[in-house]
Amino acid sequence: RSERQRAAIDEIETFSAHNYAPLPVVIASAEGAHVTDVDGNRYIDCLSAYSAVNFGHGHPALLAAAQAQLGKVTLTSRAFYSEPFGPFVKALAELCGKDMVLPMNTGVEAVETAIKTARKWGYETKGVPEGRAKIIVMEGNFHGRTTTVISFSNDEEARRSFSPYTPGFVHVPFGDAGAIEAATDDDTVAVLLEPVQGEAGVIVPPLGFLTEVREVTSRHGVLMIADEIQSGLGRAGATFACDREGVIPDIYVLGKALGGGIMPLSAVVANRDILGLFRPGQHGSTFGGNPLACAIGSAVVDLLATGEMQERSCVLGERFRAGLQPLLDKGWATAVRQAGLWLGVDVNPDLGTAKDICYRLLGKEVLAKDTHGHTIRFAPPLVISLSDLDAVIEHTLAAFADA
Ligand code: PLP
Repeated sequence: RSERQRAAIDEIETFSAHNYAPLPVVIASAEGAHVTDVDGNRYIDCLSAYSAVNFGHGHPALLAAAQAQLGKVTLTSRAFYSEPFGPFVKALAELCGKDMVLPMNTGVEAVETAIKTARKWGYETKGVPEGRAKIIVMEGNFHGRTTTVISFSNDEEARRSFSPYTPGFVHVPFGDAGAIEAATDDDTVAVLLEPVQGEAGVIVPPLGFLTEVREVTSRHGVLMIADEIQSGLGRAGATFACDREGVIPDIYVLGKALGGGIMPLSAVVANRDILGLFRPGQHGSTFGGNPLACAIGSAVVDLLATGEMQERSCVLGERFRAGLQPLLDKGWATAVRQAGLWLGVDVNPDLGTAKDICYRLLGKEVLAKDTHGHTIRFAPPLVISLSDLDAVIEHTLAAFADA
């Protein structure tokens, strides 16, 4: 690292809380699938800010939408209406095939909103006695970092020292629809799941699981909530990961790429019989639905309209997975999982940790991040070129070979 990068890192580590363990690179600019550090070194981004930058850094259409709105009005609060709000909620509702949208900012806020929505629906529509609503969640889930959401995490690191926890959640193994049915009773209001578990290491459930969840939840009068914050908007090779099985949940939870990597923008999307239950004063956010984010969000929905991003995700993802086959053949990786342009590679512990490999990749000017010790998650922007993707494959094979 240069003196300049060391100084920047020192300042950050001195004055910011240590709730992350970043790789030692200080980014100064970015474009498309590339980021450039303060010394001018150029890297291929294989994380896309945890899939918030699915359409690449500074996508021209998204920048143009942001710039046009910046000069008009950026924040009104929901005390008034704003011009970009209507087109955004209409476009997003149509993309999801639903009636209504409730916009928030961060992903976890949208998850909290979905939980409140499901409980409210449970008490007011299903007739569950007040205080008894139960939500079934998956083992290995990741839905964010608020106190309620970490209450139903299985990750001790995420939970320890943050009790007391919010009750009302029941765990079942991810991928086991029978366990969901067994855990369902009259107080169950919802099943909350990630159609592909991202943070857990791109865990793809057995084919047919989502279909079975849909069937079980419909039969028992329970809402199916799909947290597509990381898996949605093209990442998993379709507009939504649920599309992989043609499944339509009752509630979509969206975030990350919805804001184009420019603004925090999240949303809960559902039909009127569910989201229509909210009345003024029952939920809200100062920044939720702000004009700047809405203008960008509309442009994001436009980008998804042609299907080009989803197609790229499928085709490039398949090429990436095939390119990494030697990792399995040589025993360097114990598993390679893939959903669209989204790969989880389990590093053979004999070679070191996933973090060790990520450091080697950094040396080869590829940015990727480990998750849960032994897994590397690859999620390059969907706009990455074939030649850059091939370079990533080559560097990844070399990083394992050096180990
Ligand atoms: N849900 C899922 C599936 C996620 O992957 C994430 C973030 O990684 C979140 C929720 C939380 O989103 P945010 O960090 O924007 O609160």
